[in-house]
Amino acid sequence: MRTHTLGFPRIGENREQKTLIENYWKSTLTLPELVDGGKKQRLRNWAIQKEAGIQILPVGDFSSYDHILDMALMLGVVPPRFAGDAPGVNRMFRMARGEDGANAVTPLEMTKWFDTNYHYLVPELEAPTVFKPDVSPLLAQIDEAIAAGYTPKAVIPGPLSFLWLSKTTDGSDKWQFLHALTEAYISILAELSTRCSYIQIDEPIFALDLPEDIRASFPDVYSRLRSATKAVLILASYFAGFDDNLVTAITLPVDVLHLDLARAPQDLDRALKLIADGKATKDISLSLGLVNGRNVWKVNAEHAIAEAKKAVAALGRNRVWIGSSCSLLHSPVDLDAEKNLPAEVKEWLAFAKQKCAEIRLIAETVDDSPSEWAVTELEKNRQAQISREKSPLLHDPAVEKRVAAVDQAMLHRSKAYSDRIESQRVSIGLDILPTTTIGSFPQTPAIRGARSQFKNGKISESDYQAAMKQAIEETIREQEKLGLDVLVHGEAERNDMVEYFGEQLAGFAFTANGWVQSYGTRCVKPPILYGDVSRPRPMTVEWITYAQSLTDKPVKGMLTGPVTIACWSFVRDDIPQETVLKQLALAVRDEVVDLEKAGIKVIQVDEPALREGLPLRKAHQDEYLRYAVEAFRLATSGVQDQTQIHTHMCYCDYHQIIDPIADMDADVISLEASRSGMELLDVFADNAYPNEAGPGVYDIHSPRVPSAEEIESLLKKAVETMPVERIWVNPDCGLKTRNWEETRASLANMVKAAEKVRQIC
Ligand code: GLN
Ligand code: ZN
Repeated sequence: MRTHTLGFPRIGENREQKTLIENYWKSTLTLPELVDGGKKQRLRNWAIQKEAGIQILPVGDFSSYDHILDMALMLGVVPPRFAGDAPGVNRMFRMARGEDGANAVTPLEMTKWFDTNYHYLVPELEAPTVFKPDVSPLLAQIDEAIAAGYTPKAVIPGPLSFLWLSKTTDGSDKWQFLHALTEAYISILAELSTRCSYIQIDEPIFALDLPEDIRASFPDVYSRLRSATKAVLILASYFAGFDDNLVTAITLPVDVLHLDLARAPQDLDRALKLIADGKATKDISLSLGLVNGRNVWKVNAEHAIAEAKKAVAALGRNRVWIGSSCSLLHSPVDLDAEKNLPAEVKEWLAFAKQKCAEIRLIAETVDDSPSEWAVTELEKNRQAQISREKSPLLHDPAVEKRVAAVDQAMLHRSKAYSDRIESQRVSIGLDILPTTTIGSFPQTPAIRGARSQFKNGKISESDYQAAMKQAIEETIREQEKLGLDVLVHGEAERNDMVEYFGEQLAGFAFTANGWVQSYGTRCVKPPILYGDVSRPRPMTVEWITYAQSLTDKPVKGMLTGPVTIACWSFVRDDIPQETVLKQLALAVRDEVVDLEKAGIKVIQVDEPALREGLPLRKAHQDEYLRYAVEAFRLATSGVQDQTQIHTHMCYCDYHQIIDPIADMDADVISLEASRSGMELLDVFADNAYPNEAGPGVYDIHSPRVPSAEEIESLLKKAVETMPVERIWVNPDCGLKTRNWEETRASLANMVKAAEKVRQIC
């Protein structure tokens, strides 16, 4: 039985690649050193997988920035604005990151990879696109693997997913390129087959609701691809079930179909049935993605082995592969490196390296005479399952009781927005077009320095607190000088908007090194939510009330919402997500109520990840939106009418979910809008959003300082779209990644623009 992974993390056990690439950007590392470092990382990744028992190793999963960008480059898809760049690493980084100054250029657009927190770069096409395949970089990597004695499997995104994820920049229909793109893939596959007997083609769009014509184009494309190669073709989709795409997928002329059985266990029976009924490609094999690449829990080996046995009984050993559900890109690298996790919790976990061993365990145990190693490991796995099931660490009866007692009344403010807004305006004292920010202010070297000194025990807790208070005071003074209306404390004390809260809540554990790539060299370290969640004591009240004590202006309390905390954590899978959200919501609710008690009149509960958690399949979206919205309402409905609840969202398009967002019933929502020149404003047209809204007036992702005039014209657009008394003026998102100089100048222009527009309204 063959074992494989769909891909392995690229960043390195200690984020070596991040350091390497960033040093290259800073010119403290040469190009040959960068190239050499990449090669070493690949060899290391293969060695880890091979040692853990994986037979067929992915090549092409490694990337110095993003694998979709790499594929675009392999196809010669380079936007005209980069035409003057010499091919190579520097052009690739310029496409990924853009450049300021004399050689200024805008990067490719970055967007979320399906329902993950990974971001890919959107390839740009325009007519006439001529694909010029260049497989040499991938071939070189395959040669590296062969030279090291490994059995390589080339991994590339498939043509239909590539096109689906691309965009045209000239308004033309991207699907016109399908024929030419398929030709390019034919030559790529032909070249790959000269070196490599396995090729994995990823078509994750099978996890989506596909338009009929797109689905219908698979057979022709794949029969052409098939004719290009005699290699074993593995077709992979992941992140959701094949559902209505299964019949199409399983009849394509490929050798192996990969199923994500972590997300869609039902796909196995369906696939076996189609095969048994002769409704599948003759002799097709199945790759069983039994080991979850999206979460950190140990596989339930007994269950997985039973599934594998079922497949073997139906197809025979030779036609069953065991693998990860998706690329292990979405898992931290190595649990062995974690020294500070609670021992009991650590027992329940598996990171990428450990997941490889789980794959081997499943494959070996399906045999009638499993090795001694497999027998021991299986027993260990069984013990870990029992330990987790029975652990008192998971359960807090008080929390479970509270969750059970949540009723409808707790999900509603006592009055409707229209009846509470007047009392809020009076209590807070606001003019029209009030100005505010999203919460964070620059995380200066002084702030970061104090935090790392505190973590390393170099300064005392009281010194650290004093440093944070100083940063808060400076931030308040700056905002007063700027003339902002609703101030914030600036979030100096927060390392991260989820980790900060997780650290103070019961039910969370933290890794020292559990990094996962988010985009480029940016990594996140999601907390592990393993048990019932509660809030032992107030989390933010001291900081916010300190900030409020410094000024007569209202200071906005700043919290992360339950949905976002869950989306950006590794969440337990032993209870329904809805219950996890309710627990988080009750904890946030306690904090909201305590802030109100402490005299805070405006409280913002950020939910930037609300859209991200949306299931890929429409059939599951309504249910998610219902309980996500309810969680937000549960978190925010414990306050009096005159307390104003804000929320903030970014990173996404809201058109599709504006009704559920309106159902959240926040008094004010701020959201990202400036990058699209306020095109997004039409989500607010025709009262689609019935409460108040602050469509972001400038992009905080760039150091550019917007002029007062351009902000003014965006505000005028806003005023034309919705009633002026419901509009707020704010940037797109938090300012923590900017420096003070840019921040001051930008906010001064924002305040000036608001004053101007106020005068004409
Ligand atoms: N309040 C957070 C901040 O300003 C919001 C961050 C976010 O939306 N991602 O940093
Ligand atoms: Zn944001």
